[in-house]
Amino acid sequence: MAVERTLSIIKPGAVAKNLIGNIINRFEEHGLRIIAARMIHLTQEQAQAFYAIHRERPFFPELVAYMTESPFIALVLEGENAIARNRELMGPTDPSKAAPGTIRGDFGKSITRNTVHGSDAPETAVTEIAFFFSHVDLFPRAR
Ligand code: ATP
Ligand code: MG
Repeated sequence: MAVERTLSIIKPGAVAKNLIGNIINRFEEHGLRIIAARMIHLTQEQAQAFYAIHRERPFFPELVAYMTESPFIALVLEGENAIARNRELMGPTDPSKAAPGTIRGDFGKSITRNTVHGSDAPETAVTEIAFFFSHVDLFPRAR
């Protein structure tokens, strides 16, 4: 197993519902360490850039509208297999298919309003982390 880093976003709806602590607890309880954190309210242009890979998808305008409606929390999580571990904790994209006990299963309202984002591969993690954090913003724990 490898120590990885991944970008997590606690999406606007979850911040609005005061779920920041609940979600962060789940990460920490499952061996993920928070090595960077910030609250940010993206502009339309910034959200379009972050989700550029989905530009041609029919849900793109709705996704951008949701991600810009109010501030969200961006986190960098570090730990063994952090990318897959985070995605397991999140559950599938569609909350109606997510098991109870997963973040999306417990709190997701719809495919768009699905509580959290997590990087899906090492390459996307690097790009997504760099979108929100510079290298001096990352604080790996001394071991
Ligand atoms: P994320 O990237 O947010 O961690 P994911 O990797 O499970 O989620 P993606 O396919 O990358 O899902 O889609 C990015 C986001 O776009 C999803 O989290 C969801 O909010 C939205 N989305 C994806 N598919 C749909 C859809 N069919 N209808 C509406 N929104 C969608
Ligand atoms: Mg994705």
